[in-house]
Amino acid sequence: MHDSFCNRCVFGCIASDALEHYVLCPVLWRVIGRVFGSPPSDSLDVVLVLSAPNRVSAFRLYAAATIFHACRASHLVRLRAFAENNESEAL
Ligand SMILES: [Zn+2]
Repeated sequence: MHDSFCNRCVFGCIASDALEHYVLCPVLWRVIGRVFGSPPSDSLDVVLVLSAPNRVSAFRLYAAATIFHACRASHLVRLRAFAENNESEAL
């Protein structure tokens, strides 16, 4: 039970905490779409700025990576605090 919670998307999806999920995470990319005023492309190559590179796509990817790392870092800090205080039952 604890492992399944700890291994979920840091943005609250039921998806697993995997890099390939975050490239497509609907919660993360919905936020990015709101900030930039339009949803990202459905093409993974465009999202990753591997094709049709442009400034907006690059900023979207940068924002997504920054948000991901900030959220994940705070998530890990909380998990470590729970583990160090032997409060893992609260997870
Ligand atoms: Zn997600």
